[in-house]
Amino acid sequence: MNSFEFLQSELEEMKKEGTFRQLTPLESDQSARVVINGKKVIQLSSNNYLGLTSHPRLRTAALKAVENYGAGTGSVRTIAGTFTMHKDLEEKLAQFKHTESSLVFQSGFTTNQGVLSSILTSEDVVISDELNHASIIDGIRLTKAARKVYKHVDMFDLERALKESENYRVRVIVTDGVFSMDGNIAPLPGIVELAEKYDALVMVDDAHASGVLGENGRGTVNHFGLDGRVHIQVGTLSKAIGVLGGYVAGPRTLIDYLIHKGRPFLFSTSHPPAVTAACIEAIKVLVDEPQLINRLWENTRFFKDGLAKLGFNTGNSETPITPIIVGDEALAHSFSDKLLEYGVFAQGIAFPTVAKGHARVRTIVTAEHSIEDLEEALNVFEKAGKELKII
Ligand SMILES: *Cc1c(COP(=O)(O)O)cnc(C)c1O
Repeated sequence: MNSFEFLQSELEEMKKEGTFRQLTPLESDQSARVVINGKKVIQLSSNNYLGLTSHPRLRTAALKAVENYGAGTGSVRTIAGTFTMHKDLEEKLAQFKHTESSLVFQSGFTTNQGVLSSILTSEDVVISDELNHASIIDGIRLTKAARKVYKHVDMFDLERALKESENYRVRVIVTDGVFSMDGNIAPLPGIVELAEKYDALVMVDDAHASGVLGENGRGTVNHFGLDGRVHIQVGTLSKAIGVLGGYVAGPRTLIDYLIHKGRPFLFSTSHPPAVTAACIEAIKVLVDEPQLINRLWENTRFFKDGLAKLGFNTGNSETPITPIIVGDEALAHSFSDKLLEYGVFAQGIAFPTVAKGHARVRTIVTAEHSIEDLEEALNVFEKAGKELKII
């Protein structure tokens, strides 16, 4: 059987360019140090900002939910798969985000897809930052709305796009709150100001900001003091929250509409009890243990300073996401391989996740790392960086 040659040739090309990758299985729980190939290494690639993936309170909540409610839900939310705990989580998220209402989807990815694809028609326009996440791009692809892309965080270009789209019924500006590959924060105050001037809606995807920025990790909207001025807030339960899922928080009308029209919500089975219960516990932990976020930011400052002192190009990051930009795709991957050999897991990221020529190793410190972990990691970065002549 030889019918996949059309794919194989592309893969061969990737192997030649040094961009073909194997998956890297973990043999331990997700933590500051993880076991890979039988060896304990420092984890700098997860989105586990606060260490909640293996927090004792989340483990206990998940176990108790399995004992009381079983392993699965047996239905989509709209037929027979809404449990009281699903409603409980949504109430907690709405309270947390200071919105009227919220709705949980299977993932952050399907949240963006579901929201964008369902609320817009051919009479509308969506205006999107050029570096928005793939799930926003795919959501836009599924709408019949007109599309405009503005230059990354460029408010002059956003205003141009708004001026060019005065004839549409609804205009939606959509942006990542924190950009996942560079770690910079969207200029939300400027975006909101323009949206109010041109009567547009604002949708912010706070996947990398929830649990990280704002009071108790409420996200970029709260961080900038813009509560009540951003119409649609998307978040994920899979990153700082430590479990799985996505949600949209906003006015009741939006949520009621999505319950009837959000296709991933309608046509895909609801979260198992363990997932939902662990998410509920995670929101409580965010409120009860603000020291986790403080530690995350202390570690962030320490690690960023260390990398800058060593002379690495870390771009314009303002958050715990710190890229070490090396440019060449194959170099990024060999840098990552060398780091792993010396005891640090930091993935190389190349095209199509970032633009050609902007390949990087991306790091994310967590609240769980000790200063010793980070000092050791910096030594490894120095050694590997010098060997590959990156510094
Ligand atoms: C990770 C990410 C998502 C997807 O979230 P999942 O819950 O992992 O599906 C969406 N948007 C942005 C900006 C992200 O970084």
